[in-house]
Amino acid sequence: MPGSPVPGWGGVSRSSQPTPSAPPNQAPRAVLDYRERHTPQEANVKIREIKTYLMHAGPPHQQAIWAKRNWLFVKVISDEGLYGVGEASGWPRVVEAAIKDLSTIVVGEDPANIERIWQKMLLATMGHGMTGVVGAGAMTGVEIALWDILGKRLGVPVCDLLGGMVRDRIRVYAHAHDVERALQLKEHGYTALKGGSPTRPVAQMKELREALGDDFDLCIDVHGPPWFSVPDAIRVGQELEEYDLLFYEDPVPPENVDSLAKVAAAVSVPVACGERSASVYGFRELIERDIADVIQPDMGRAGGFLQMKKIAGQAEAHHIMVAPHDGSNGPIAEAAAVQFLASIPNCLILEHLADDVPWRYEVATELPVVDSHIEVPRKPGLGIELNEAVALAHPSSGNVTPPREEVLQATYVQSRAKRRRLLRP
Ligand SMILES: [Mg+2]
Repeated sequence: MPGSPVPGWGGVSRSSQPTPSAPPNQAPRAVLDYRERHTPQEANVKIREIKTYLMHAGPPHQQAIWAKRNWLFVKVISDEGLYGVGEASGWPRVVEAAIKDLSTIVVGEDPANIERIWQKMLLATMGHGMTGVVGAGAMTGVEIALWDILGKRLGVPVCDLLGGMVRDRIRVYAHAHDVERALQLKEHGYTALKGGSPTRPVAQMKELREALGDDFDLCIDVHGPPWFSVPDAIRVGQELEEYDLLFYEDPVPPENVDSLAKVAAAVSVPVACGERSASVYGFRELIERDIADVIQPDMGRAGGFLQMKKIAGQAEAHHIMVAPHDGSNGPIAEAAAVQFLASIPNCLILEHLADDVPWRYEVATELPVVDSHIEVPRKPGLGIELNEAVALAHPSSGNVTPPREEVLQATYVQSRAKRRRLLRP
């Protein structure tokens, strides 16, 4: 039958009717309104091209732990002249190569068929094995851009397509590792922050709590170091209880879910994890076994909007809150996280890197932080634009940051004396 779906992944014909042509004196084809074209599918639009922009996103001094950090932006262009932007983390230089490979099977698809395109990409990567956040990162960058296109076609923000707004602003927390920085952030209106210390977590939280007072939310990320045993993580978690943290992040290496389960069962401080996991499959066990109190899917590498919604839905059924990881991401993924979090009931808070590199606020439209919140933009799509010239002005120069020697030496072998310093304030 003409116009019936074609089996397999070769393409879907949506309608046997010819595509209506634009009447005279109408707006250019790229900006025709949804109502005039019935459904996006009936417009018979195809993806024409996918571009990537790999950008250096670290500070100039090489001593910083993320001096070799990159951001990877994605631009999906349709043959109607519209485009959407996305961002992919994971391992950005490697993810860029994956996106170039995947683009060969995504070009020619209807950009409105987002789930179909995601499943097509998933099947295409099966032969490479479990690709984790690298494969999922590539799919994420493309998927976010598809939602940006759809929002622009329909003239609505992405959150309106995800169920609408549960809230119109998203609470964020910033990073501080010492009292001086913490007080600066408080002065700028922040009401929550996260410290990060795999070597003196209890002491750091004690200092920050004493400096900031009780009316402030504190979190700690110990980054799941390989030398941190289950007994150590339990001991630290119990020491942290008196500081009333919002969450205790990655107390043990996340590769062993049973270890995390033992820690979570032994401490009353909420345990957070998930930044290194991707897709509904990566989060299933953490959620089904009620191990995590807070899950932290990364908007740039967990799979994209649909996967994030599905993960959040799984979590909702277990009364688990969502606090997306954003520590590796640039402004496009952050804008996507804002749209996503606007649409879910179990949003806890969003990570935000303030003052990391100045071009964060040049490479894309800034979503300002006011009183520790980002307002959800009401423009179509993601509500922000990528400045390609700025991205090209800061090319990548590598994407591996060597671990500090002190951390390397500590791997697996630490004397009890060193552990005592780690455990006690
Ligand atoms: Mg972390």
